[in-house]
Amino acid sequence: MMRTVDLIEKKRNGGTLTEEEIRFLIEGYTNGTIPDYQMSAWAMAVWFRGMNDKETAILTDAMTKSGDTVDLSCFGDLSVDKHSTGGVGDKTTLIVAPIVASLGGKMAKMSGRGLGHTGGTVDKLESIQGFHTTLTAEEFRRQVEEIGVAVIGQSGNLPPADKKLYALRDVTATVDSIPLIASSIMSKKLAAGSKSIVLDVKCGSGAFMKTEQDGKKLAEKMVAIGKHCGRNVAALITNMDIPLGSNIGNALEVKEAVDVLSGKQGDLREICTALASNLLSLCHGWTIEEARKNVEDAIDSGKALNTMKAWIAAQGGDPDFSKLPTAKIVHPVRAEHAGWITHMDAAQVGIASSVMGAGRMKKDDPIDYAAGIVLEKKTGDHVEAGDVLAWLHTNKEETLENAENLFREALTWGNEAPAAAPLVYEIVR
Ligand code: URA
Repeated sequence: MMRTVDLIEKKRNGGTLTEEEIRFLIEGYTNGTIPDYQMSAWAMAVWFRGMNDKETAILTDAMTKSGDTVDLSCFGDLSVDKHSTGGVGDKTTLIVAPIVASLGGKMAKMSGRGLGHTGGTVDKLESIQGFHTTLTAEEFRRQVEEIGVAVIGQSGNLPPADKKLYALRDVTATVDSIPLIASSIMSKKLAAGSKSIVLDVKCGSGAFMKTEQDGKKLAEKMVAIGKHCGRNVAALITNMDIPLGSNIGNALEVKEAVDVLSGKQGDLREICTALASNLLSLCHGWTIEEARKNVEDAIDSGKALNTMKAWIAAQGGDPDFSKLPTAKIVHPVRAEHAGWITHMDAAQVGIASSVMGAGRMKKDDPIDYAAGIVLEKKTGDHVEAGDVLAWLHTNKEETLENAENLFREALTWGNEAPAAAPLVYEIVR
């Protein structure tokens, strides 16, 4: 008879687990016969010893099948999904989903809420008056068919092994293990059913992966798992050393997404164009150049914005965005001296936004959709004394001083312009 303690010991000693052994662990943990203390010892052994590609693929498959899976086979290759490993100011789903839908892709997406310094798509969408993220399976499928996009909150039973293991890893210092992150993310993507998947692996001060090298290792693992399971997958390794775009905070991010689909240029449009082009290339077989041209046309013609409005209206939201909540206090943070901004700690900027009400520190904390930060200056900008660096939006006056201090501490100053960093480091296909 297989014993959990032997499998922990095998991994602790650097051994390779068999398919039967990995399935035994995941099934036992999901159904409660393996307790948290043994699973956390195993996760720590994996943290130190790693897993090879085959073990990681089996682990992912076992987690994927631990609960319900969504069948999107009716959409064939057109079903698409995108996943970001999380960051600050990352509102790309709000922009990429309608672009892709306006060009024939079928985005049936489950999204999460924000936690800590990172934001979540569900919170951003719920800042739009009337918008709801609960649809029946039939409403979800019909909306995807008719409009090309539907976004709902994560379903409780998808996949339960990941839900349990992620909560355990969170409190046992075993989150930052590449095979455990790769299997956690990919089990959710595979269970959600899309054929074509683009992963946005974020690296830098605002991301889980602090370096480009680690980002690349994670991207390669996830692409290998996806391909092994018969999906079309690409991963973009992107820069999260600096918040994305200029707005951070839920309603402020919805506004910026609308601005980009109305023609606003800059880093956010560039990243969204890269993500959307890769998705369309996977689902239609277009070349990246062809896909990019179609994406630019969809934005410039207003077609993508119209799809966004149809999507928001279909889920009960105000498609004119005229009633987005606004904060009572909009406070400028001004430069105390002249100089170049050479670095911005993106996670710290996210925390400054959170303390004003935009995020939660614990899972069920309420959030203020109006709160957040609008950046006027970013890394690489030259600033004169007295210039506005950012606007702090809040309804809680008592949080302003702390938020302003956190924001100022996030900035590094220099006498010269820093070297420009790319937005997309690499694409793994
Ligand atoms: N996001 C996930 O879904 N899982 C991880 O393990 C890390 C980030």
